[in-house]
Amino acid sequence: MIDRMKPITEQSQANPSESSMHTAGARIILMGPPGAGKGSVSDRLVDKFGMVHLSSGDILRAERSSGSELGETLKKYMDAGELVPDEIVIKIIIKSISSLDSSKGLLLDGFPRTVIQAKQLDDALAKMGLPIHGVLLLDAPEEVLLKRITGRRICPKCGRVYHIETMPPARDNICDSCGTELIHRDDDTEQVVRERINLYHKETEPVIEYYRKSGVKIIEVNADATIDEVVERAIEGIRQVILSEKKGKTS
Ligand code: AMP
Repeated sequence: MIDRMKPITEQSQANPSESSMHTAGARIILMGPPGAGKGSVSDRLVDKFGMVHLSSGDILRAERSSGSELGETLKKYMDAGELVPDEIVIKIIIKSISSLDSSKGLLLDGFPRTVIQAKQLDDALAKMGLPIHGVLLLDAPEEVLLKRITGRRICPKCGRVYHIETMPPARDNICDSCGTELIHRDDDTEQVVRERINLYHKETEPVIEYYRKSGVKIIEVNADATIDEVVERAIEGIRQVILSEKKGKTS
């Protein structure tokens, strides 16, 4: 039985199967400006629920560092903080989604970022019979986003995310999980981050409206809080969406 006096994370640690039961198979799009904490929240949700995590940024970075011709094209856009053109990104990401086993649920992180991408994603997921359950929207004030991103360090091998002030690794600049030297992303400088935040307002915020109008549930989470609090709010929001979906099916 769910004890409403206890934080949901505590409950799920005490009885993981119960919380997982409510969110198993959830297909969620994670949205938010750069620095809202999408990467850290994804890691925690995936650890807890075992859903498949698909980060468009990670997939594009892997292609970029492969040395391919496509990788060189991606580098130009990514290092400048610009969006990769829709026709390129849609092809890469939809191909990745089709090859996944999403029976345990899906967490889409960083895709879609434009309304054109959202429409193409809807078409592809409809063909696969895997509609989206909800959009998890993280947000925080711009100064908070900037501070978070410019201090961010990432493990290039396992993808774990650190912050030089708020979440440093145990050994200076070395990943706690796999011992690899951490990197500061080329697009995590203040100037590039400002450009990425502007692009978010211009290109990605209309995607939220698109989903709202399509009747997809939007779970808004204030991400100006500790990671534990943000994850707790996110889990509760996803749980509510899945419960209302189940009720809708049975009523
Ligand atoms: P992220 O790791 O999600 O911040 O993405 C890093 C960079 O990859 C972005 O600044 C874009 O250049 C590119 N990117 C990632 N996802 C997309 C997308 N859905 N559409 C276009 N560009 C993207």
